[in-house]
Amino acid sequence: MRAVTYVKHNTVELREKPRPEIGADEVLIQVGGAGVCHSDISIIGLGDDNPLIGSTLGHEVAGTVAELGEGVTGWSVGDRAIVSLILSCGRCRECLSGRDNQCEVVAPRDGLAPLSPGIGSPGGMADFIAVKARHLDPIGELDPVQAAPLADAALTPMHAINTVRDRMTGDATVVTIGLGGLGHMALQILAATTGARIIALDTDQAKLAFAESHGADLALPSDGDAAGRILDETGGVGADVVFDFVGVQPTVDLATAVVRGGGAIRFVGLGGGSFPYVAGGGALPWGVNIERAYGGTRADMRQVIALAAAGKISVEVVRYALDDAVQAFDDLHHGKIQGRAVLVP
Ligand SMILES: [Zn+2]
Ligand SMILES: [Zn+2]
Repeated sequence: MRAVTYVKHNTVELREKPRPEIGADEVLIQVGGAGVCHSDISIIGLGDDNPLIGSTLGHEVAGTVAELGEGVTGWSVGDRAIVSLILSCGRCRECLSGRDNQCEVVAPRDGLAPLSPGIGSPGGMADFIAVKARHLDPIGELDPVQAAPLADAALTPMHAINTVRDRMTGDATVVTIGLGGLGHMALQILAATTGARIIALDTDQAKLAFAESHGADLALPSDGDAAGRILDETGGVGADVVFDFVGVQPTVDLATAVVRGGGAIRFVGLGGGSFPYVAGGGALPWGVNIERAYGGTRADMRQVIALAAAGKISVEVVRYALDDAVQAFDDLHHGKIQGRAVLVP
């Protein structure tokens, strides 16, 4: 079968690999779609001396059940399914507490990232992927091409939003920065599931136009005037919640500049920006809550699938044939994708 493979620093190639064999508790999924994420760009930038060299990428995967292991029940050939982002153990204290995104077995505290398809386990940018049956969720009639990005681009924002859901009351203001793959889903989830006023920011005019037609109450260019505009819009007190789906220095600075006292920030984008935490001083107002959230839980995943099935959120998909994977990586790297690139085998 064909498989998009991390072959060396900043290089992916479509390689021929054997079709995976399945174990008794596994399912062979014929891949219908595999999303291309900024994390994939980051992964292939990890150099030439890396344990992931040679592996098949792809952590946003949906498709159709092609074959069942002998011990698998509850699935039939032809069922549509989405693969879990985090291949959690299901048995540790974190998993049993509903924090399976923090599974202590597959997400060690000093690890690069939790075990995922395409990150330590063979990914889904291929014709087939073998997955343990317990790492699948049904997607009903959803098109796997549309559904695949839900596994991260919608799941991760949903999780971040759920950690601050009680703050997003009808009189609250939410700021969301970045309207790319995750950000354009975050905006739709906020609009569909909260009554808060939403201010969306991006540097790209087309993405701001998308925001205006997808639930933003105000769409602002993410520039040097943005902090002042947001403070003006909130009577000088700032936003209740700020989501940063970019994480570069200017957006981290913006987030800390506009959060209100007692508010919350969720840094989701992995852009490497930072701010000094000064005990007793510094840039943050008193009472601000920050969490370094990763991915999402299976419960978050079910919520995302339900919203998509009800037509309340949908991914702006840019389709690429699997054979054109190198082009998709290049286009994402150069900021040419509006929404999510999805490889279609
Ligand atoms: Zn991702
Ligand atoms: Zn676990």
